[in-house]
Amino acid sequence: MPQYDKMTYRRCGKSGLALPGISLGLWHNFGGVDRFENGRDLVIRAFELGITHFDLANNYGPPPGSAEETFGRILKEDLHGYRDQLIISTKAGYEMWPGPYGDGGSRKYLLASLDQSLARLGLEYVDVFYHHRPDSETPIEESMMALDQAVRMGKALYVGLSNYSAEATKRAVEILQSLGTPYLLHQPQYSMFDRWIEDGLLDTLSETGMGCIVFSPLAQGLLSDKYLSGIPDSSRAANKHGFLQRDAVTSERMRQVENLNGIALNRGQTLAQMALAWVLRHPQVTSALVGASSVRQIEENVAALDTLNFSSDELGSIDQILQGN
Ligand code: NDP
Repeated sequence: MPQYDKMTYRRCGKSGLALPGISLGLWHNFGGVDRFENGRDLVIRAFELGITHFDLANNYGPPPGSAEETFGRILKEDLHGYRDQLIISTKAGYEMWPGPYGDGGSRKYLLASLDQSLARLGLEYVDVFYHHRPDSETPIEESMMALDQAVRMGKALYVGLSNYSAEATKRAVEILQSLGTPYLLHQPQYSMFDRWIEDGLLDTLSETGMGCIVFSPLAQGLLSDKYLSGIPDSSRAANKHGFLQRDAVTSERMRQVENLNGIALNRGQTLAQMALAWVLRHPQVTSALVGASSVRQIEENVAALDTLNFSSDELGSIDQILQGN
């Protein structure tokens, strides 16, 4: 089914695995509260366009766990027979069930959660299992040994880290290297509106040979033209289950968005497309991990890969806008 020639695949760090330049995340729009048929259309269209990587976590929904159930149903009903053409990831690290063992980074939590995820997904293994966030209460050795164990048990092919600082990533990689664990990917937040990874993490990823898949590259939709004339009813900021708050849509932000939109149009792209090309300009960034509420958005986002180059003038103008000049 996938039209592989429509997609650009990029090598993930120093690993043997390639990921699509655009990957699809199921944080929003795939929960029990959402319309199943829409989620199914999104996944099928994404896969047709060569998006081979789908990203989940134990807590995606709402309710928590329901996005994995939705994806498990799509796998069973529509993508049966395609398992070897898919890279499926999940994570544990945020609160998932009551009591001391349903949150954090303990071996108890991570391995129990992975079993629950596999049951919801209807899978024997995931391709990537992440620790979703660092946990200062748990020795990092314990969390890394749990990831390693997941691989040894055949429940994950590779492991990943999400939201780890550059320093914590270095320490984690030392441990994973000593264990011989196939560590593959770091998943940090990165967009024009959140540039923290430029301050050390990207260098660490080059040094460790890890790939990088950046989440919320569209700043949850702010980096598009959709909020320029108010908050549409169908948008994440208006959705009561949405993580984007209405008060994130400030007039100052919209002035920046308006100016960025001008640069994008001059490049012959939409702002969403330029925002994706902008995160992919770093060689360390393997994939831009987007969300979508419609098939049209997925098509538009994949087409960003047609124009990835930036002139130094364009990059300079973007920096000026982001610095508020
Ligand atoms: P984005 O920044 O890509 O935001 C996606 C949202 O932006 C869509 O749901 C849609 O919202 C809007 N949108 C998408 N494409 C367009 C377009 N072309 N034009 C206009 N609007 C568009 O990413 P997310 O914040 O959704 O995060 C992506 C994934 O990253 C998640 O699904 C998850 O897998 C992962 N993630 C990981 C985290 C972690 O801690 N590791 C944390 C957060 C996310 P609308 O409803 O308004 O149409």
